Amino acid sequence: MDHFLYRDGALHAEDVPVSEIAAAVGTPFYCYSTATLTRHFRLFDEALEGTDHLVCYAMKAASNQAILKTLAALGAGMDVVSGGEYARARAAGVPGDRIVFSGVGKTRDEMRMALSGGIRQFNVESEPELAALSAVAQETGRTAPVTIRVNPDVDARTHAKIATGKAENKFGVPLSRARTVYAEAAALPGIEVVGIDVHIGSQLTDLAPFRQAYEKVAELTGTLRADGHDIRRLDLGGGLGIPYARSNEAPPLPTDYGALIKETLGHLGCEIEIEPGRLVVGNAGVLVTRVIYAKEGEGRDFLIVDAAMNDLIRPAMYEAHHDIVPAREPAPGAAHHPYDIVGPVCETGDTFARARDLPPVAADDLVAFRSAGAYGAVMASEYNTRPLVPEVMVHGDQFAVIRPRPTFDEIINRDTLPPWL
Ligand SMILES: *Cc1c(COP(=O)(O)O)cnc(C)c1O
Repeated sequence: MDHFLYRDGALHAEDVPVSEIAAAVGTPFYCYSTATLTRHFRLFDEALEGTDHLVCYAMKAASNQAILKTLAALGAGMDVVSGGEYARARAAGVPGDRIVFSGVGKTRDEMRMALSGGIRQFNVESEPELAALSAVAQETGRTAPVTIRVNPDVDARTHAKIATGKAENKFGVPLSRARTVYAEAAALPGIEVVGIDVHIGSQLTDLAPFRQAYEKVAELTGTLRADGHDIRRLDLGGGLGIPYARSNEAPPLPTDYGALIKETLGHLGCEIEIEPGRLVVGNAGVLVTRVIYAKEGEGRDFLIVDAAMNDLIRPAMYEAHHDIVPAREPAPGAAHHPYDIVGPVCETGDTFARARDLPPVAADDLVAFRSAGAYGAVMASEYNTRPLVPEVMVHGDQFAVIRPRPTFDEIINRDTLPPWL
């Protein structure tokens, strides 16, 4: 459920017509609903009620300061994957003891930054990373709390580019090596083993792979405890999917996911961390764009919109589907017509949808790409010198620009010339 609904014939974000925002801000723009964001975070938090837990929002999904502050005020922790994200989380007021640091290639500078600024734990992915972290911890005179990310070799049954829990993926330490790596970690100065970490992929639409992975984590917890490690925290990653095509998808709900966690791991007495990104913010955001031209082709008709692959890369990168809806509510029973919806960039990949059945849409009409809140604005670029797409947040009947559209001068002046030119 989200808060982008038709009311009085017009698509609203909460209590604000998106056409009103378009008139004030121009198009294209991302628009987030505070109520939806809040609701989705709470669903996870409530799903784990009764267990000691922390929901660490995976902020790579959408990292605007306004989004982080909204979630931080609800008690969210953050899962960061870079020094930049760590700085963003801190700037949004998230205390270090609510930040976990994930990622397969943390640099020593990033480790130093998080260790001296305060960190809940590092989710370590390899032996060389452990050695580096030990060195940095000693150098800064601190102790680094760590979990080791294990790769449980389960098939997440999702798009190949976002599956991370198979043996062939670059992530984590194979389960078969876990005992060795934990023994190494325990012996290293400056390292304190606190738990186990696992993350098997993104946009999972079935609980079975989670069950497989978490059962392996439960077994490993017993093994490692028997080896003498104080396993007291389990970081279970993110990855729960969202319904991108509302008509025919019904992924599992956070409550069912929470029940599965309690069932597979609840008896271990561990603190539970989860790292959802997409489900928290995905359906809390839309990308609003204007149709520049409606063009009749041979055998197919095109809607050329003012958003492009640089603003929303998911269709080009993951063959992703986004529901597309006109901002003006179609008349009941309006005849649908198939359109290819494309952007202005000179690449055939700049195609959002092919032969998509839409109610009548004409040039100058506004349309919204739904479920664009996650991995949308954060993956945007200025390819074709198209200004970085702005972001807007709605709260009840108010809206505010939370990242303005840069001017051409601002874009150009970011470049600096070498002395010989
Ligand atoms: C990307 C990522 C997440 C979030 O995944 P979602 O599918 O957005 O929930 C969580 N943890 C790690 C380690 C990640 O890389």
